[in-house]
Amino acid sequence: METIYCEGCGAQIQTEDKEKIGYAPAAALEKEVVLCQRCFRLKHYNETQDVPMTDDDFLKMVSSIRESEGLIVHMIDIFDVHGSLIESLPRITGKNPIILVGNKLDLLPKSTNPNKLIQWLRKEAKDAGIKVQDVFLISSVKGTGIDELKEAIDYERNGQDVYVVGTTNVGKSTFINTLIKQSTGHKNVITTSYFPGTTLGFIQIPLDDSASLIDTPGIVNKQQIAHYLSPEDLKVVTPRKEIKSRGFQLNSGQTLFFGGLARLDFVKGERLAFICYFANELEIHRTKLEKADELYESHLGGLLSPPTEESIELLPPFIEHSFKISGGKKDIVFPGLGWVTVSGEEATVVVHSPKGVSAGVRNSLI
Ligand code: GDP
Repeated sequence: METIYCEGCGAQIQTEDKEKIGYAPAAALEKEVVLCQRCFRLKHYNETQDVPMTDDDFLKMVSSIRESEGLIVHMIDIFDVHGSLIESLPRITGKNPIILVGNKLDLLPKSTNPNKLIQWLRKEAKDAGIKVQDVFLISSVKGTGIDELKEAIDYERNGQDVYVVGTTNVGKSTFINTLIKQSTGHKNVITTSYFPGTTLGFIQIPLDDSASLIDTPGIVNKQQIAHYLSPEDLKVVTPRKEIKSRGFQLNSGQTLFFGGLARLDFVKGERLAFICYFANELEIHRTKLEKADELYESHLGGLLSPPTEESIELLPPFIEHSFKISGGKKDIVFPGLGWVTVSGEEATVVVHSPKGVSAGVRNSLI
């Protein structure tokens, strides 16, 4: 195939992979003006679609943000904070001020205290070395908090450009599409423009005569479990509605399986409550620790699914981590899947999660 470039954004056109930059269906190559699917949708439906990029590519591409002056809006998924917080952000954005936006608020139980959550996010960001100006909680899908965020952006940008950055799947497109819908009173205002030293265009939504809101590609974080699941399995583990917590009173010597994707062994400690926050569709099985290995071997892909029989091979083998828990309420986090809250008492747990998606412990979020 001869090399063709998208007239909209300059990406090299390819017809193989829908998820990657420059994809266009083969039929589009017949047209006089060739647009990639992303630019096509932007032009005809005023809708944007996230395009993924690896961290390294992204760093190269947006290093020019460092040299420009503007406000950075870093969007994360509050259901997967560790999978979506970009630790290299200060390197990317230089001295520019950062607003942290936790999206998908609708997924957390209604009992969640937003102020506590904001404090918590601020601290997580600080511990990761990211200094944030302000923290907002929104739901792009429900529209919660969007007006307040828009006001804050307008205030803090000081007349300058706004760059929206995030990893893939945090809901950046959903958010930007909401903004596009609100600004399409003026026709064809949304443009893509080349960024110096890169091929891919950034989407620009004009904010006033001299400044724009700029959509950047989604950074691929290989720690996200989404990269090891089939699309069907991903549907099961991605919550779509408010998460209903599920509580288990466990004695030591008991195990919980989260589908076939993660496992928690309660190894040592007094009887204790384990409160689980996972997609409501993901089944949790309790068993005896001594039987857990055997159960996993004989029922992975069946009783213990996802993964299904067909998608087992996508999943890397489990890695074990042992955690001693004490000193207040803690969450044992399985990135991208959910977390288990344990309170107070001393306990030793061993967690099993797919290699590359390592589990961790944090101060309780809820
Ligand atoms: P992007 O890759 O960051 O552009 O993410 P998308 O906008 O494509 O969203 C990724 C997934 O998250 C989609 O399934 C969205 O429907 C979902 N999503 C986006 N925003 C929200 C939200 O506020 N709440 C919930 N529950 N889901 C959301």
